[in-house]
Amino acid sequence: MTGDEQGDRTVLITGAGRGLGRELARQYAQDDWRVIACGRTPPTQGFAGRTEFQPLDVADPTSIFDLATRLAGRPLDVLVNNAAIRSEISGLHDFAPDEFLKVMRTNTLGPLLLARALRPNLVEGRMRIIANIGSRAGSMAEGLLDDYDDDYAYRCSKAALNMVGAQLAQDLRVDRITVLSLHPGWMKTDMGGEQAVLAVEDSARGLRTVIDDATLEGSGSFRTFDGMHIRW
Ligand code: NDP
Repeated sequence: MTGDEQGDRTVLITGAGRGLGRELARQYAQDDWRVIACGRTPPTQGFAGRTEFQPLDVADPTSIFDLATRLAGRPLDVLVNNAAIRSEISGLHDFAPDEFLKVMRTNTLGPLLLARALRPNLVEGRMRIIANIGSRAGSMAEGLLDDYDDDYAYRCSKAALNMVGAQLAQDLRVDRITVLSLHPGWMKTDMGGEQAVLAVEDSARGLRTVIDDATLEGSGSFRTFDGMHIRW
């Protein structure tokens, strides 16, 4: 790809105001991508490079529809479904049903609706990649081997996001759109906490390499930020 072509590439990132989303936006902008940085509120600090802010609440289907309307006709190379929440109260006996549904709506339904709404934009792009930021916590095979985590809603939302990705990979193959489920590692962010092992810069760098190297043959796979396969 020539320098000019690289400069034409566009990535849309949800939850780009802080944490991993913000770091991905920073790194893509530094490499001269066009970045559509989405969030619920405009950032207090501006973004670098060719970055524009677009308002988006991923838990609100109307907000997703409005975003897609504003972006109609604009090619998109990569969609990063990054925004997510954990439960405020977790635990078998303590979690609240409404909270459970809010987490599912944000972490699972939001990415699915966005993929559907932005499919025409991805078809106009050259790379055609949907990267769903999942979690090893959502793996049936490996998630329970990690440190104890009784956030039922979060775990279920990420397990369901994996199925969303696998099904999308089937349905969007006809458009040559590649769909990935990606575990970013345990990162030092508001969600991951200070005791986490991984700098968000390193996770973002690794995820970008996995995204850059993605192929249609690998669509529907579940990988870590450093490219290892994870069992579902
Ligand atoms: P943070 O909690 O630090 O940031 C979450 C981001 O999501 C914020 O920008 C937040 O925006 C946004 N967000 C939440 N709800 C919505 C919504 N309804 N609409 C739009 N944006 C929303 O999380 P991380 O950066 O740590 O996590 C990024 C991704 O990585 C998530 O998918 C997470 O599940 C996953 N992950 C993280 C791990 C970790 O160790 N941190 C481990 C495994 C997976 P706002 O500022 O408006 O709240």
